[in-house]
Amino acid sequence: MNEDIMRNAGFNDEMDNVNSNKCPFCGKKINFDDFEDELSLKEFIQSGICQHCQNDVFSEDNESDDREYNINEDDDPGIWGYDGDNW
Ligand SMILES: [Zn+2]
Repeated sequence: MNEDIMRNAGFNDEMDNVNSNKCPFCGKKINFDDFEDELSLKEFIQSGICQHCQNDVFSEDNESDDREYNINEDDDPGIWGYDGDNW
């Protein structure tokens, strides 16, 4: 997203304020061209997180962990219960 567009959208003070900021997550300088939409910019103004890290933080919903656990209920001690050598 273009910086002029965001200034026109009323983020002038914010733009001046955060222009030298760095992302607290990745430590990289904020690149305003990375912000995809106004929502991402507002999130950045609140949290200071760059677009890249926002994608990481807010993409958790997309990760579906439907892997089934292969539960093996084998509580039989078997040979390990044998203590015959300990005389
Ligand atoms: Zn970042």
